[in-house]
Amino acid sequence: MSEQLALLGGQPTIRHDFQPYNPYGGEEAEAARLVIEGGALSCFLGTWSDGFYGGPHVQAFERAWEKAFDIPHAVAVNSATSGLIAAVGALEVEPGAEVIVSPWTMSATAAAILVWNGIPVFADIEPETFGMDPEAIERRITPRTQAIVVTDIFGHAARLGEIMDIAARHGLKVVEDAAQAPAAVCERGLVGTVADIGVYSLNYHKHIHTGEGGVCVTRDPALAERMQLIRNHAEAVVADKHVSSLANLIGFNFRLGEIEAAMGREQLRKLKGLAATRTRVGTALTAHLGNLEGLRVPVVRPGCTHVYYVYGVVLDRSVVEIPRERILDALRAEGVPAAHAGYTNIHLLPIFQQRIAYGRHGFPWSGGFYEGEVSYERGTCPVAEALHARTLIALHTCLHRFSDEEVDLVGHAFRKVWNQLEQLR
Ligand SMILES: *Cc1c(COP(=O)(O)O)cnc(C)c1O
Repeated sequence: MSEQLALLGGQPTIRHDFQPYNPYGGEEAEAARLVIEGGALSCFLGTWSDGFYGGPHVQAFERAWEKAFDIPHAVAVNSATSGLIAAVGALEVEPGAEVIVSPWTMSATAAAILVWNGIPVFADIEPETFGMDPEAIERRITPRTQAIVVTDIFGHAARLGEIMDIAARHGLKVVEDAAQAPAAVCERGLVGTVADIGVYSLNYHKHIHTGEGGVCVTRDPALAERMQLIRNHAEAVVADKHVSSLANLIGFNFRLGEIEAAMGREQLRKLKGLAATRTRVGTALTAHLGNLEGLRVPVVRPGCTHVYYVYGVVLDRSVVEIPRERILDALRAEGVPAAHAGYTNIHLLPIFQQRIAYGRHGFPWSGGFYEGEVSYERGTCPVAEALHARTLIALHTCLHRFSDEEVDLVGHAFRKVWNQLEQLR
C-alpha cells in the first residue's frame, strides 16, 4: 500500500529546504582579499599599451584556463554573453549573413548574432540530448549561411563531431556555447574546445563562477586577437596596433576585473571536482528514475560525459496520459525543488516573432542587407516545441547542493508519484 500523495492531503516526502549549490570557499575569499589590499582592481587600458591585455590576475587566469583546457588561447571576459558577442564578431560575420543557432539555449546566444546584424536561423534539436540536430542544421544551410553557433545544452555535448564535419564541408565557422557544460567530455575532446571558438560562463548560476564572468577559447591566434580587440575598445587601438582588417572591430568594454580573475583561478582549480559532483547527482537520479514506466532519463552518448547543469527527463505520452503540469504539482507537493515544465523556445521570443531588434522597422531583417527568407513561425522547430510544451521536466541540478540523501529523497518522491499516477486523473 502506497502512502497518500502530498497533493491529495498526505505527508510530503521532503520536509526541508535544500541548501543552495555553493562552489565558494575560503580560497576565493583570500584571493579576493589580496587583490583588494593591493588596490589595483582592474589594470586594463583601452589603448595599445602594456595594459591592453589586462592586469596580472586576468592574464594568470587566462594562462591557467589554457593549461586546464589544453588550448593555446583563452580570452577572459565579463560574461559569456560578452564572450559570445566577441566570438561572433571575431568570425567577421557580415550584416545580413545567416548564422544557425539552437532554439534551446539562452537568449544571449542568438542575440550575439543580432549584435553584428547577422540573422539567427534556428535549427531544431534532437530528442536525445537536446543539442542541435545535425540534419536540421544541414537543411537550414543556404548560400547566405556564414557560421553555426552550437550550444552544449544541460551539461552534455551537442553532436559536435557531425556538426564540425558539416561545417567543414560547407566552409562554415563554428562557435560552441559551452556555458552549461564546462569539464564535460565528448568524442572530440573537452567540450568548448572542439569548435573554432568556445565560450564558457562564470555567472553565479553556473558550475563555477566569479559572480559575473566568462572565458573564450580558440586554437586560432587571429581569432584570439580579434576577440581581445573587441573586448577592449578595438576602434581606439587598431591604428597603433597596426591591425589591417577592420571588419567588426567595433570594440566594447568586456573586460574582467582583477578580483573576479583571482577568484576565477581558485574556481578553476575546483572545476573538475565540482563538475564531478553534478555527474554524481545525475547518475544517482538515473539510478532512481531509470525504471519508472513512461519516463525517459537523460541519455549519455558513448565517449561523452554529462555534467548535469540540468537533469532533463521526458514523458512518454503513449504511456503516461496525466498532464505534465499535474505531475509537476504532485512532485512539488512532495517537496521536490527546482523542477520546471519544459525549457525554452528562443525562436518564439517577441524579438523574432515581431522582428523588432534595432529601431522599429525590422532591422536587420529589413533594410537591404538581408535577402533570405528566414521563418520563425511555430512549427519550425517541432521537436523543441513539443518537448517544451508537453513532455520535458527539467530539474535544475546546479541550483541546490543535492546531497546523496537529498537525491535519494527526490528519487523516493518520483517513485511515490509514479506508483499513484492514476490518482492524479
Ligand atoms: C548562462 C548561459 C549564457 C550566458 O552566460 P552569462 O555569463 O550569464 O552571460 C549563455 N549561454 C548559455 C547556454 C547559458 O546557459
